[in-house]
Amino acid sequence: MWRFLVLAVLAWMIPSGAAAADLKERFCHAVAPLLPDSFADLSAGSLARAEPPALRAFACSGGPGAYRGGRLWLRAPLDAGNLAPGEAATLLIHMTRFDRLTVRFQYADGHSERFQVASGDYGQHWRVGGQLAFTAPAREARVEAIVLGLDRLATWPHLRVRLLPGSSAASEASLAAALVGAAIALLGLSTLYNFLLSIASRRGFVAWHAAWVGTVFVWGLLWSQLALLVMPGIAGTLTAQLCTLLSTFAITFATACAVAMIDPGRGARWIRSAVLICGLAIALVGAVAAFPPASLPLPLLGTILGILVLADLLGVVLLIGWSWWRGDKGARDYALAWGLPMATLASTEIIDYGPALLGGGSQLAVLLASALQTLWLSVAMTLRLAKMRAERDAAQAARHEMQLLAERDPLTGLLNRRGFVARAERALRGAPHGFTLLLIDVDNFKSVNDGYGHDIGDSVLRVVADAIDRESGSAVAGRMGGEEFAIGADALRTDPIKLASAVLESVAGLDLVHLFGEPRQVTVSIGVAHAAPGSGFEAVYREADRALYAAKNGGRNRVALFGGGEGGRPAMSREKPAKQAALRSF
Ligand code: GH3
Ligand code: MG
Ligand code: MG
Repeated sequence: MWRFLVLAVLAWMIPSGAAAADLKERFCHAVAPLLPDSFADLSAGSLARAEPPALRAFACSGGPGAYRGGRLWLRAPLDAGNLAPGEAATLLIHMTRFDRLTVRFQYADGHSERFQVASGDYGQHWRVGGQLAFTAPAREARVEAIVLGLDRLATWPHLRVRLLPGSSAASEASLAAALVGAAIALLGLSTLYNFLLSIASRRGFVAWHAAWVGTVFVWGLLWSQLALLVMPGIAGTLTAQLCTLLSTFAITFATACAVAMIDPGRGARWIRSAVLICGLAIALVGAVAAFPPASLPLPLLGTILGILVLADLLGVVLLIGWSWWRGDKGARDYALAWGLPMATLASTEIIDYGPALLGGGSQLAVLLASALQTLWLSVAMTLRLAKMRAERDAAQAARHEMQLLAERDPLTGLLNRRGFVARAERALRGAPHGFTLLLIDVDNFKSVNDGYGHDIGDSVLRVVADAIDRESGSAVAGRMGGEEFAIGADALRTDPIKLASAVLESVAGLDLVHLFGEPRQVTVSIGVAHAAPGSGFEAVYREADRALYAAKNGGRNRVALFGGGEGGRPAMSREKPAKQAALRSF
């Protein structure tokens, strides 16, 4: 849909550009040697000396030759059909490489208006949209000829000259400024966005995309001449050279983005390599074309670049097509996003846009297409990354869930041995006052299984586990295996004897008639050991186990504390949990 919108906008703009007269076809030309002082001196004196040659010296057929080292004179006669008498006229020239330009409007009454700009000093003549504007004031007499003098013009084919009636020139200038301004603002924001996105996502293709958008953004600032607001000294040749450099770099970055974004699989690795080589060659030839040595004519470099760009585009199309065919969704997004700028770029290599599109020609077309592409691709990439993020979050959640399950005992829901030991070890490291371990073993559990069956045994384990969990409060409870449970508690926050007694009492007091079908008590024995800060879990476990063994030996249904008895041996609690106070004496 958006592509139709763009085409509609372009189609609407083209006629507004066509209202201007394309002067290039009318120019008669003559080449003269440069004046010796014409490089440095911009005074009125030098203007006066630089008189155009006699009319008969002008040739009116074919293009000019051997103009690069000299001054190219161009003369376009105008008739009443072009400009009515009394109408102001604006001459618009697209920014290109030359050292100096003089413009003369010759009026029918013999008067002439003269202007001059030089590379590095466009004065007030530059306009947003890559144009140089020279306005001939309205006079009684009409303008009968326009004469241009161009010193060291780099390429005749790149010269675009149009003449507009004063009123259309003003409205065209505001339209161009609005369009170019909007496209550049979009590119600027997109550069920032893609740069941040590339940091956040750490994806290569986003970084290459940021590089492409950033390069097109800077190119747009230079080509449109907005950059002259802050750096008027780069007007003309330097700007044009930087534009050549940046436009080729942009193609290289876009190619790298395509290659990084699309994985064609093994089958098409060679297309990928070929496209990459092509992209690099474009940057290389672009660098030479930007600052060409005298031995290499610019049109030749232009032709080489054109061929390379078309080959590169063909390679990218093949790459996208191949991946799309293999069912890569990224390739489809990419194809849709890059379709317009690629087609525009290819068209600029094949069709001569001339002064169409408000005089901005192919450059304005590429700028607008790039702005739309970056908008599209930024949205597509954001959605893609958001989807990837959602998938990653889901995978992380599933992994977390599995981790939890791996640390849980499915029968009782308590931590299993692995989960309990992991937490206990963590607690041992972080507990400044030490750590207390309670090992709890169900007494004579074998007889439960033997008497009531394994299923009832399981149910009893569940009910006992619930009681242990309830009593442990902020401490950590787990099932160490079989009918053995454990509680790990911070020594400062929990009184272990109190806790053990509570567990003893709670289990012994369980009403299990619904399981056994008769009144029957289940009891536990508990071994307690204290671990000093920095000691290991295995040591405290061994000690608690010894205390548990002592509790069993002491008659079961009781608590034994490691180190509480004489000679460091476990001390036994009382037989009945109700006598809790007696425990303190151990
Ligand atoms: P003691 O007082 O000395 O601890 O005697 P006890 O019978 O509890 O100890 P013993 O180690 O002889 O027997 C433990 C029994 O626990 C044996 C085993 O079948 C049973 N058991 C272990 N795990 C499970 C389980 O998951 N479910 C059931 N129902 N029984 C289990
Ligand atoms: Mg037991
Ligand atoms: Mg046991």
